[in-house]
Amino acid sequence: MAIIKLKKKAYEHNLKLIASKAGGFDKIICVFKDNAYGHGDKILVPIAKELGVNFVAFKNEKEAQNFKNLFDNILILSHIPNGDEKNDFIYALNSKEHLHRYKKGTKLHIAIDTGMHRNGISLDDMIFVFDEAKKRGLNILGIFTHFACSDEYDPSFFVQRENFRKAKDLAKKLSQNKLCFHSHNSSALFRCFKLDDDELCRVGIVQFGYCEFEKSLQKVLSLYANKLSQRILRKNEALGYGLSFVANDDISIATYDVGYADGLFRYDGKGVLALANKKPILGKMSMDSFSCEDMGDEICVFDDVSSWAKFFNTIEYEILVKLNSNIPRILE
Ligand SMILES: *Cc1c(COP(=O)(O)O)cnc(C)c1O
Repeated sequence: MAIIKLKKKAYEHNLKLIASKAGGFDKIICVFKDNAYGHGDKILVPIAKELGVNFVAFKNEKEAQNFKNLFDNILILSHIPNGDEKNDFIYALNSKEHLHRYKKGTKLHIAIDTGMHRNGISLDDMIFVFDEAKKRGLNILGIFTHFACSDEYDPSFFVQRENFRKAKDLAKKLSQNKLCFHSHNSSALFRCFKLDDDELCRVGIVQFGYCEFEKSLQKVLSLYANKLSQRILRKNEALGYGLSFVANDDISIATYDVGYADGLFRYDGKGVLALANKKPILGKMSMDSFSCEDMGDEICVFDDVSSWAKFFNTIEYEILVKLNSNIPRILE
């Protein structure tokens, strides 16, 4: 059976590192959207709580539901308002057109578009939004922004940071509440010298050990597969769909029980896609299995998805988040 193993020590190590960079556990918003980036939220969220995190973010209410009694603050990032918002949650306001759809008392953090132009309201609309929210009895508790290029050396990062500072100054004038501010995601936090004193960070992937700006992180997730079958492939015999791998010598091969239905990208047999021990996958990947040199009953498919991300010309996020939630997760 395929299994995902999560390293508790690695996760704790990363969170402590984030806290020391951010200035304390109370400066962290842990983003656990999409099953904690494919890791398994049921296992990791309580560990963050134990360590002292008290602010978390999810994609939607369904994800957040299981943890609503655990945290003082839960931010919902991608909610379409329906007038039935819960007092347990804080909702990101992604569009000023949504203001009239929230019922009185709904708790909001306003997304500010400082230059990414994906969502949020412009600085020019802030006066209108604060005004309208007041009229409607909405409860603005904070403002935040997201960087388009925090993981690339692009000057827009600094432009957006300046714009957000302006937005914070304006928000402080427009609100009687003491507002909560946050902008830095994983790469922004670790590339900046220091967080502004009035800001929290809002970090996802760095919790799980991935960030090119910090080398001492530890990878949390590894994927294991178990042997379904084995045989000797004779010289010139071929293997798998399309018979794309042909043995140039006798070789002992085995088939393991993870495939693209489990969320792995489908390897088409071209180029070298290596397992954790550097041995290549042989032939095309099947829906529920792949083949390689026989390496015993259980093998580690990967304990670091960076090389897979590179191979498939994507980012680590995508390799991780696609891991099927049906794969059992254990903590070790
Ligand atoms: C996903 C997400 C994050 C976390 O980003 P990382 O790069 O994983 O740290 C932060 N803020 C928003 C709005 C997000 O959607």
